[in-house]
Amino acid sequence: MASSDPELEQAASRIRRAYQPELFRAAGDRLIDQLASHLDRSEQSQGSVLNWTDPRQLTAQALDSLNAFRAAWKSPAEESPAVGDARCVEQFARLVELALANGINLHDPRYVGHQVPAPVPLAGLFDCIGAVTNNPMAIFEMGPWASAAEQAMIRTLTGHIGWDSANSGGIVTHGASIANLTAILVARNVKLGQSWEQGIAPELQSAGGQPAKLVVQADAHYCLARAAGITGIGTNHVVPAVLDSRRRMDPQRLDDSLTDLKRRGHPIIAVAASSCATPIGAFDPLVEIADVCRRQEVWLHVDAAHGGAALLSKKHRHLLAGLDQADSLTWDAHKMLFVPALCAFLFYKNKQHGFEAFRQSAPYLFDPSTPGLAEFDGGLRTLECTKRGAALGLWGVWSLFGPQLFEDLVDVTFALGRTLYEKLAAADDFVPLHEPQCNIVVFRHIPAKLRDATPAEVGAFQLRLRRSVIESGDSYLVPTAQNGVAALRCTLINPLTTADHLDNLLATLRHHGERLT
Ligand SMILES: *Cc1c(COP(=O)(O)O)cnc(C)c1O
Repeated sequence: MASSDPELEQAASRIRRAYQPELFRAAGDRLIDQLASHLDRSEQSQGSVLNWTDPRQLTAQALDSLNAFRAAWKSPAEESPAVGDARCVEQFARLVELALANGINLHDPRYVGHQVPAPVPLAGLFDCIGAVTNNPMAIFEMGPWASAAEQAMIRTLTGHIGWDSANSGGIVTHGASIANLTAILVARNVKLGQSWEQGIAPELQSAGGQPAKLVVQADAHYCLARAAGITGIGTNHVVPAVLDSRRRMDPQRLDDSLTDLKRRGHPIIAVAASSCATPIGAFDPLVEIADVCRRQEVWLHVDAAHGGAALLSKKHRHLLAGLDQADSLTWDAHKMLFVPALCAFLFYKNKQHGFEAFRQSAPYLFDPSTPGLAEFDGGLRTLECTKRGAALGLWGVWSLFGPQLFEDLVDVTFALGRTLYEKLAAADDFVPLHEPQCNIVVFRHIPAKLRDATPAEVGAFQLRLRRSVIESGDSYLVPTAQNGVAALRCTLINPLTTADHLDNLLATLRHHGERLT
């Protein structure tokens, strides 16, 4: 027994100190204060966008703090608990400062980089409930409210897709990559009936023994090729669909390609369209694509990880016309619904399909005596077993601000994409590489000195320019390539960015560019 063993007694006493609600309260008060000040500084662009430090140096610093900070408490005999707790809160605050001082500040309106938003700050506080109480949710009982909040969001969002919530359904996953993988797995299991049990050796699947194919938007996110690898389709059997001049899937060529594949005896697992594809934010024409898939009797999956939120905007929902015809679709909340990572949705028009992904039973988890409750046990339908209560932040923010806030966020950030494009087009030392359909804009800076440079030189300059800008902390944007030549890419995904910030972005690029040419 612990009481007869002094070492265990001490261990128990150390554990109790770490679990004290009063210590948590004191540290929590400090944390909120620190985070609010940090947000304030970031939103005012005080400090750097990215706090760039060489990763080796930063890792060494993190290792140092593991040792330097450890002695927050002396042994219980050496000091009073109150003194120890006060010191622990001070150490806690220093650790928080360390983390905040060495991050990237997405709330800085000069951040125009990856498709990762400045989240609505209150969403993080809802996440905190899940983090502190740990209500993960493979099964309803282990995260009742998190499961209910997830279900409520699924029903709300399927309503916006235009689906009836009695027949449609979905699941929250840790990111769109897992959502897409799960959708392709479902499509595979539906198309190749025995594949979950038998694998997908071609001779098992079709009379002619031709390998199954997955047809994807040629600019599809790399996670779809991974899904093909993981599900045994094989990356060699991913067929890129031909794009039009604006890098959208061409429905007529898709039709031709499906006809050809079928004539040669290949089973087709699915067509995966993009809304939008990541390189330049191109939205595929879903009405026509859905029509082709219906005639060809092929599963239509739409990767709307980035663009799904346009459904919530009266101005932009036309980009997603036809989305309701999809069999499955992916929609990341941690992008254009402005909640922190990770929160992604996978939706099925027919909710029964959700049970096709993982045809297993785990009797110790899922209780057969409660029929009808299976759809609340998310673990039957996800790759994850333990899963954080990922939809709590979205549920909380939606409850507080309603769909209007999300419509505003889409409208403002999409308009910023247009504004940046217009500024680039009006400048003679910038070249926009496409007309944006959303808040993703790709361009090059070509100062007068580089006007006669080769494409390779122009590309190399874009990369050096970006490096210089991000390491300075003056802005944050990302590299990409078009036609094999490097370019710059912005996602306007901080709704606090304004047209003035975009003028400053061009000025910053010119300023760094001058020093590099
Ligand atoms: C961001 C993105 C993904 C990957 O999503 P994660 O949530 O990062 O896994 C997949 N597809 C598209 C179209 C995306 O924009």
